[in-house]
Amino acid sequence: MVFFIPGSVNLCYYCPVNYSSIHTHTTFCDGKDDIETCCRRAREKGLVSIGFSAHAPIGRKTGFKSDWHLRDDRLEEYIGAVRAARSRWEGRLQVFLGLEVDYVPGLMGPSDADYRDLGLDYLIGSVHYLIPPRGAEPFTVDGSPEELEKGLREAYGGDGEALAGAYWDALEAMIRSGGFDVLGHADLIKKNNRGNRIFNPSGAAGLRRTGEIARALGAAHAAGGAARSRITVEVNTGGLNRKKIDDTYPSIPFLRLFCENHVPAIITADAHQAEDLDGHYGEAREALLAAGYTETVLFDGRKNNKALWKKEFLTTNDTNQANIGFPPGSCCS
Ligand SMILES: [Zn+2]
Ligand SMILES: [Zn+2]
Repeated sequence: MVFFIPGSVNLCYYCPVNYSSIHTHTTFCDGKDDIETCCRRAREKGLVSIGFSAHAPIGRKTGFKSDWHLRDDRLEEYIGAVRAARSRWEGRLQVFLGLEVDYVPGLMGPSDADYRDLGLDYLIGSVHYLIPPRGAEPFTVDGSPEELEKGLREAYGGDGEALAGAYWDALEAMIRSGGFDVLGHADLIKKNNRGNRIFNPSGAAGLRRTGEIARALGAAHAAGGAARSRITVEVNTGGLNRKKIDDTYPSIPFLRLFCENHVPAIITADAHQAEDLDGHYGEAREALLAAGYTETVLFDGRKNNKALWKKEFLTTNDTNQANIGFPPGSCCS
């Protein structure tokens, strides 16, 4: 399958795959390492670029208490710190400024107007929270198994398919409202579903919902609509990096649906420490190939409010992370 992406680079079948890492958390939110450490490690690992995507502040907009989001009063400091890193690393490593924005129905989402004024390079849109009906307590789907089970019991009467349905509803609503560039960990709901103990992702309902989501993203690309309605899906290795799940977000069957609908895919690590910036990228590449992709994309900045992407051929001679340490540009380019 070949995408046409304006401004993309020529493909070379013999070059090693270039990788980037644009889903990155630092000490500004719930990451372990600071911005400079991440930049240095990204360069050492041979990544062509790094993007920072702090969890966007949530307290002022939602009233939720959180120790894993950037604080509202540190947003400007965060933006300044990433911009300063961009200047320091100019010519050696591309540094991008982003945010991972929660979609919380009725309270906040990546389409909120205030994000447009921040001069960000990109936004990742993610659903972590479910807001149950009938006034039950909001809860996160990727927190502890106990938190999910409490939510399942209290808000959905123990009906796992209803809980999964609520997650897909939120994801679809976020996609409809748009405003972001990368769809974060599309099937995060599976994190606490080992052995399909809560819901069956391969059941009729799961297949229908994931198919609808992939078609919606594909249709937006085909229609060539507004820049932030053309959403790239990430192949996120964060669950593997933190040993929470055994595969990527999304799993190969869901990824296959994105591929069939011509949705570009970018490999990301959802790194919460510098060491994980390229963690399990070999598996992500294998997952893309197994899903039918022959290319991935790299983020290349923003111009005229439009995200720029470069495509990158997934060469067949690249095995796992063997080429990650290859200095960028050392092949034919
Ligand atoms: Zn996330
Ligand atoms: Zn994240």
